[in-house]
Amino acid sequence: MFRSIFVTRAEDKSVHAALRENTTDDDLGPGDVLIDVTWSGINYKDGMALAGDRGVMRTNELIPGIDLVGTIAQIGAGTRADSLAADSAPDDRSPEADAAGLRVGDAVLLNGWGIGETHNGGLSERARVDSDWLVPLPKGISPRRAAAIGTAGFTAALSVLALERGGLGRGAADGSGEVLVTGASGGVGSIAIALLAAAGHRVVASSGRPEHRDYLLSLGASEVIGRDELESAGRPLQSQRWAGVIDGVGGQTLAAALAQTQYGATVAACGMVGGVELPTTVLPFILRGIHLSGINSVECPRELRLAAWGRLARDLDLDLLDSLTTEIPLADAITAGEQILAGKLHGRTVVNVR
Ligand code: NDP
Repeated sequence: MFRSIFVTRAEDKSVHAALRENTTDDDLGPGDVLIDVTWSGINYKDGMALAGDRGVMRTNELIPGIDLVGTIAQIGAGTRADSLAADSAPDDRSPEADAAGLRVGDAVLLNGWGIGETHNGGLSERARVDSDWLVPLPKGISPRRAAAIGTAGFTAALSVLALERGGLGRGAADGSGEVLVTGASGGVGSIAIALLAAAGHRVVASSGRPEHRDYLLSLGASEVIGRDELESAGRPLQSQRWAGVIDGVGGQTLAAALAQTQYGATVAACGMVGGVELPTTVLPFILRGIHLSGINSVECPRELRLAAWGRLARDLDLDLLDSLTTEIPLADAITAGEQILAGKLHGRTVVNVR
């Protein structure tokens, strides 16, 4: 028996989250690989799942945790989640795990693919998942640091790659402008700033918490602007400032970012802490040729996943990562979920599962 956080939604719609000491492998659900989990993390989405938000917690009983890092304990441990085919014998060695070259004892990480949403996730000492969701732990990154990067850092890397595909750094948007990061003190924002600064860009951080100004400058931001500057900006076309944008906020903030983006540049939209609506017009797109690039870390194809993790392994300053990381034990994950929804956490929070 092992420890896991469970969230249950009762028939009267009340939600209850608690640490259970008596989970067994039989409680875990489908998958062809068993993982001994050592680290997980608290993302905004984990806060939503821990609160029973139906947009994230898609079942009535769930182990949350969209990230996990650990070692493979057993291969061929059960039926794959994505193909509950009648002819898959539970005790067969998984051909997918063989194809991926996975072995018992390998250190692996997993972000997304529905864990912590539709499938039991990483806030548990043990997890059963599909082998082809796993990414080998990148060389030079410890398990704790891989969890500190987590979905937030992975999403930041996907966003940077999207801006570069759009021409950032190659002169398409004149190459000399500033890059805006919104929701800057959060997990995605903090790692986005560090990656962009490492690539030589001048980064402007938008934050609603002036007390984090020095923190944001220490990550590599050149300037910090108030959240309200973007929230109050109304017209769909304004002075062109940004050579690229990574937006974790959505709503009016994203609309204002689009209005201020340089001709031909790319805006990566990855979050919605400020709202899901987008109050703009077609003008930024048809008069300025701006590209709006949607980021989805959950179903991101394997090749792009490996490219993003490769970029993190190459460019992310690991001492800087440590400086933005807070560690908590598994028992504190429920409280941390409440805090992230209330905007009280900054940087990354890793969960020491053991
Ligand atoms: P965090 O809570 O760590 O960061 C969000 C930050 O946004 C906060 O730190 C705060 O920064 C700012 N913020 C908080 N509330 C508001 C508000 N009401 N209005 C404006 N700004 C606000 O979350 P994550 O970094 O984990 O996630 C950020 C967003 O990205 C979330 O919406 C999340 O769901 C999404 N996401 C999407 C992914 C994808 O695949 N598309 C993957 C991962 C995350 P400050 O105080 O500096 O303003």
